[in-house]
Amino acid sequence: MLGLMQDQPLVVSHVLQHAERNHPNAEIVSRTVEGPVHRTTYGDVARRARRLANAMTALGIRPGDRVGTLAWNTYRHMEIYFGVSGMGAVLHTINPRLFPEQVEYIVNHAQDEYVFFDMTFAPLIAKVAPLLPNVKGFIAMADRLTINGLQIPRLMCYEDLLEGAGEEYTWPELDERSACSLCYTSGTTGNPKGVLYSHRSTVLHSMAMCSADGAALASSDSVMVVVPMFHVNAWGLPYAGAMCGAKLVMPGPALDGASVYNLLRNEQVTLALGVPTVWLMLFQHVEVMGLNPRSELALRRVAIGGSAVPRAMVETFMNKFGASVLHAWGMTEMSPLGTLCRLLPKHDRLDAEAQMQVLLKQGRAPYGVELRITDPEGNVLPHDGKASGLLKVRGPWILRHYYGAENEQLLDKDGFFDTGDIANIDADGYLQITDRAKDVIKSGGEWISSIDLENAAMGHASVAEAAVIGVAHPKWQERPLLIVVRKPGTELSRNDMLAYLDGKVAKWWMPDDVAFVEELPHTATGKVQKLKLREQFRHYRLP
Ligand code: ADP
Repeated sequence: MLGLMQDQPLVVSHVLQHAERNHPNAEIVSRTVEGPVHRTTYGDVARRARRLANAMTALGIRPGDRVGTLAWNTYRHMEIYFGVSGMGAVLHTINPRLFPEQVEYIVNHAQDEYVFFDMTFAPLIAKVAPLLPNVKGFIAMADRLTINGLQIPRLMCYEDLLEGAGEEYTWPELDERSACSLCYTSGTTGNPKGVLYSHRSTVLHSMAMCSADGAALASSDSVMVVVPMFHVNAWGLPYAGAMCGAKLVMPGPALDGASVYNLLRNEQVTLALGVPTVWLMLFQHVEVMGLNPRSELALRRVAIGGSAVPRAMVETFMNKFGASVLHAWGMTEMSPLGTLCRLLPKHDRLDAEAQMQVLLKQGRAPYGVELRITDPEGNVLPHDGKASGLLKVRGPWILRHYYGAENEQLLDKDGFFDTGDIANIDADGYLQITDRAKDVIKSGGEWISSIDLENAAMGHASVAEAAVIGVAHPKWQERPLLIVVRKPGTELSRNDMLAYLDGKVAKWWMPDDVAFVEELPHTATGKVQKLKLREQFRHYRLP
């Protein structure tokens, strides 16, 4: 027997309509690519998204067609998010930090019909446009005046398009399982792979982001979206924001410490979300300028994910900013929310140090995510906080196939997706990522966690960034090498570093050597590129 409730599809146009009805005056504040801060509202974004849908229809875009964006976090990008997906086309966000060859590969692979771009990326578009014969138009996200003189073939102007289109538009009733957006993983191995989100997965994921044990977005929040909209839909924040009417603060291209700090202060941001690297730049600015964020800012929560959060970062946010850190774990293939870390009532009794040990874990799964760990043969391992295994996941916002690889069997027999991470899970369900399967250091048949060593090293006041890789060793197969970027103006020797780690990590985990470098290579999503480091240090002779 079927239930007798209304059968409304979960689609993003409904999310936008909700925002327009209930939060028309809630603000979206953007640092524009042109420089000045721009203010708009959900009501205006909804009206302009309808104009965009009309304009795209006139250009011949039909449901299912792919439309690319090469853009920062701004209100225009938000209009494109809702306009394109709302009309049933597929929003393909392109990471501009990819190499031009990768951009060419994914635009052709996705068969994008049009590509929207911010002026910052005009040189990139000029370079790749001749290699993208199928793209019918490159739409500059600016007004006519700004784009004058641009030498780009098939160039179109965003503001002209909107001006020429009407505001009346009825969003189509889509199947909630139809494709909504497309995001390619950065592809540290092989070509980038496309993850094709559905309307349903997007809406369910956004609800989890809003929930109290999720990021707990609310209409009372001013939310700074530091995580880029070209990376896993900015963790779903444009949709989650519209769901609850939170004020959104978009930093545009300016992610340096000073710009981020000023926006945090001027917009009285209460919740900010982003990867660790951005916060390091913010800390540096605060330190150099001798600022007092605790008294100047309204920041209360900072959600951090994408790579492990070092303890020093949690402490700085707590002590200097008066903000708590929500450590989150996820991946492009998971929309991305997998887990988020909050304390349970039973942790109230613990002292600060014991609470910190919990907070540094990646956290617990919300409803919608099932976690399990297995050995290499697929046997399920216990959740006892000790057994370490391959982390596998299942749920309605986790991918089934990569785009264009629908014939490849990706899931195991129980329908779980292998994340490529190695983790343990404790009896309370707290996940702890110890490594990526390909980064773990295999020493004498045992595993050494590069993440744990990096976090310990990052605790030293003179360390700006640290990475640990395995280097070939005649006896132990591999041994850890610690690679450090010193903070400017500090002196730190190999022996200082090792002495600092003594007692903080297991004896047999101690790095065999410390190498100092000017900077570490990063991927397009701001993570340390271990593959490159391993190549760079392939012939390194350990003492
Ligand atoms: P890419 O790096 O290819 O863009 P993702 O952004 O999807 O891919 O990265 C997902 C991976 O990032 C996870 O599988 C995990 O290895 C790592 N990761 C994400 N969050 C955390 C975290 N909080 N702690 C440790 N590792 C993390």
